[in-house]
Amino acid sequence: MKKGFRFYIALWGAKVGTILLKILRRNATFFPGKFALKICPDFLGKIGKPKTIVAVTGTNGKTTVCNMTEDILRDNNYQFIDNKYGSNINAGVTTTLISGASITGKAKKDLAILEVDERSAPKIFPYLTPTYLVCTNLFRDSLMRNAHTEFISGLLTKYIPKETTLILNGDDLIASNIAPENKRIYFGIDKLETDGDKCENIARDITACPKCNTKLVYDYVRYNHIGKAHCPKCDFKSPDIDYLATSLDLENMKMSLKHDKTEEIYDLISDNIINIYNIVTVITILKILGLTCTQINESLKKQKIVDTRYSEEVVDGKKIITHLAKGMNPIACSRVFDYTRKYKGDKAVILILDDLHEAAKGLENTAWHYDTDYEFLNDDSIKQIIVAGVRYLDSLVRLEIAGIPKDKIVYERDELSAVDKLKLDGVETIFILHDLYSIELKDAIKHKVEIMIKSSAEKKEEEKGE
Ligand SMILES: [Zn+2]
Repeated sequence: MKKGFRFYIALWGAKVGTILLKILRRNATFFPGKFALKICPDFLGKIGKPKTIVAVTGTNGKTTVCNMTEDILRDNNYQFIDNKYGSNINAGVTTTLISGASITGKAKKDLAILEVDERSAPKIFPYLTPTYLVCTNLFRDSLMRNAHTEFISGLLTKYIPKETTLILNGDDLIASNIAPENKRIYFGIDKLETDGDKCENIARDITACPKCNTKLVYDYVRYNHIGKAHCPKCDFKSPDIDYLATSLDLENMKMSLKHDKTEEIYDLISDNIINIYNIVTVITILKILGLTCTQINESLKKQKIVDTRYSEEVVDGKKIITHLAKGMNPIACSRVFDYTRKYKGDKAVILILDDLHEAAKGLENTAWHYDTDYEFLNDDSIKQIIVAGVRYLDSLVRLEIAGIPKDKIVYERDELSAVDKLKLDGVETIFILHDLYSIELKDAIKHKVEIMIKSSAEKKEEEKGE
C-alpha cells in the first residue's frame, strides 16, 4: 500500500506527541493513535505490522490471558509488542503499532500480542489481519454497550479476515461458532465432577440450535451456556477439542493437557474455573507459538493473579479475600458469587458494586443485576452480607428477591461505616467483592477489616488473661 504524505505526517506527529506526553507524564497509550487516525483515517492499514499477530478478544478473561501470555513470552526472551498498558480499541492498537514502528513506519519486531475489544472489530479488522485471533468466550455483558451476544458474534463473523486462524473456546457454543468459514483450533476443559445436567444460572445465551432452531440438548452444563450440547434434529453440536485440559487435580494444583497423541502435565495457579480457562487459553496460545511444556511450566510458577483481581491474606487466624466482581457483567459477577458460596468454611461478604462510576460513563441501567445470580449468595455458609456504595439499594432489592433472610443483610450508603457492622464471630473468611472502579476503596476496606480482626483478637486475649 502506498503510504503517502498524510501517513508520514500522522506517524511523525504521533511519535513527537508520544515523547511530549511522556515528558509531561501523561498517558501516552491512546492519544498518539487517536491523532494519527484523525490525520490519516486508514493509518492502521498503512503502518508496518509484525509478521505474527496474536489478537485476543472475548467477553471475559482477555486482559488476564494477554498479561499471562506476555509475561511467559518475556520470561522466555521473546521480543514482541503489546498494548498491555494501553487501550484495546482502535486508537490503542494504533498507538501500540506506532511505538513498535521505525521512523519510516516499518515494524521493528516480529510478534505482537494485542488485546482487542470485541466491539472494535469493524474499526480494526478491515486494516489489520491477525495471524491468530483468540476468543475466550462470549457472554452477555453491559447491555447498553454490547446489546446481545448475537450482535457481538455477528460483528466478529462479519469483520474477521478470512486468512485469520481462530483459537476458540470449544466449550462455549457461541464463541466456537464465530466466522464458521475460518480455519480454527479449539481449546476446552473435559467434563468435571461439578458439571450438572441442569443450568443453575438465570442467563443462558444459547438454548436453540442456530441452524434449525430446535431446542438444544445439553450433555452437561458447567455454567451459563458453557458445557457440551447437541441438536437432536440436525448435525449441530459442540466441537471436538484440539487442546483438552483433563484430570484437573485441585489438591495438587495440576492438570493434563491432551493434544494430538501427547499428554503433558501443567501447573494450575488458581482453583477458580474462570482462571483455569484463562490458563488453558494461555497454554494453547504458547504451544501454537512453539514454546515447550517445560518452558511454560517454569514461567507459570512465577505467575500469580494480580492483586486488583484477587488477593488473600490471613490475619490472626481469619482469612480476608478480595475478589473483583465486575459490575455490569452478570456472568463475571455470578462466577464470583458461586466461588464465594463454595469456598470452604463460614464467611461474611462485603459487596460494593459501582456501575455508576464516571469511568463507566454512567451508561448502565440496573437490568444486569437481574441477570446476575444473587441467589448463589443465599447459602448457609454465608452468615452476613454487607451491601454498600452507590448501588446499595439496588443490591438490597436483589438480595431480597433472592430470598436472603433480612437479618443477614446490612445495608448502608457509606462503604467504610457499613464495614463497622461486620460481625467477625463465627466466620472464618471475609470476602470483599468490589468493582473495577473501586480498587482504592477495596484497599481501605481491607485495611479496616484487618484492624477489626486484630483488635477483636486482642480483646479476646485480654478476656482470657482476666
Ligand atoms: Zn439443529
